[in-house]
Amino acid sequence: MATKRDYYEVLGVDKNASADEIKKAYRKKAIQYHPDKNPGDKEAEEKFKEAAEAYEVLSNPDKRARYDQFGHEGVNGGAGGFGGGFSGGSMSMDDIFSMFGDIFGGHTGFGGFGGFGRGSSQGGQRKFRGSDLRVKVKLSLKDIAYGTTKKFKLKKYVPCSHCHGTGAEGNSGTEVCPTCKGSGHILRTQQSIFGMMQTQSVCPQCNGEGRIIKNKCKECGGEGIVYGEEVVEVKIPAGVAGGMQLSMSGKGNAGRHNGVNGDLLIQIEEEPHPELIRDENDLIYNLLLDIPTATLGGTVEVPTIDSRAKVKIEPGTQPGKVLRLRGKGLPSVNGYGTGDLLINVSVYIPETLSREEKNAIESFKDSPNFKPNPSIKEKIFHKFRNFFD
Ligand SMILES: [Zn+2]
Ligand SMILES: [Zn+2]
Repeated sequence: MATKRDYYEVLGVDKNASADEIKKAYRKKAIQYHPDKNPGDKEAEEKFKEAAEAYEVLSNPDKRARYDQFGHEGVNGGAGGFGGGFSGGSMSMDDIFSMFGDIFGGHTGFGGFGGFGRGSSQGGQRKFRGSDLRVKVKLSLKDIAYGTTKKFKLKKYVPCSHCHGTGAEGNSGTEVCPTCKGSGHILRTQQSIFGMMQTQSVCPQCNGEGRIIKNKCKECGGEGIVYGEEVVEVKIPAGVAGGMQLSMSGKGNAGRHNGVNGDLLIQIEEEPHPELIRDENDLIYNLLLDIPTATLGGTVEVPTIDSRAKVKIEPGTQPGKVLRLRGKGLPSVNGYGTGDLLINVSVYIPETLSREEKNAIESFKDSPNFKPNPSIKEKIFHKFRNFFD
């Protein structure tokens, strides 16, 4: 094997570099030599691996101290961890991504690489994560206006009470997995054109846990979870809208063998209100006035979220006028302000009339007061022009 370059030299940092400087330097190199940026370039791949190796040692204070004192000998020959893996010059790309995935976190443009953020097996044994649960909740306008608490009886996986989630019967406990010797993964070595390559995969016997159960629990068959029930109270904030999803961390299915619980995802649906229409945080009510009230003015009642409100109608109120009750809408979900209740006025024209009524209307026909006012005609014209803009 060729002699190794000095790790500080590889990353281009000073011997006294801080942890942050080392991380930054590695990130720069990793991006520069990233396989997605240099497809098929073996030299870039070697540089990429070399930088990862240097970072793996220099980012760990323990290893860095040993390296400073003993050089490559101090970190490569040692027992445990990835040190052994490196000494063969055989860290796979997948390993690099699973170990240092966080370095790339938030950096876009590397979508092609599947290795980031899986994280479940970092440094060895993995923990099982239960799956997420989804529920739908239908809310009335009132629920949405004030926020509410809903109770759900969830059918879901819960820890087995017989074995306390361990999956083992009695006190039989677990033993080290004979296949992977406790590491949770197995390494396969393959000859490739650029030397020996190792690929790592999850141990099929223990599914990555590193331990197996000696004597499986009778109740759960060794899974550590059973199908059960839990009542969960969900607090729903005011101002939510249909299509939103809330999540409650850890309230989903329990993970096998005292693993990590999944989340509960709550999908919001809105129950339509019989009279009020929602427009984001505003509410709209279509008010149909009779001719005498629209003409002479008066007071009408309109529905609100909780009850009804009295609204004054000015004499000569035109159809198409919008009245606004400030603050009678819905609160915004992030707590900034409250919408209004908009009253959209229409006027009802009688469809049938008695003979007297007909005569009365007839007598208004030639009155100039009953001819449309040009300024209002103009207003309506502009209203629609803006509407269609
Ligand atoms: Zn059990
Ligand atoms: Zn195993």
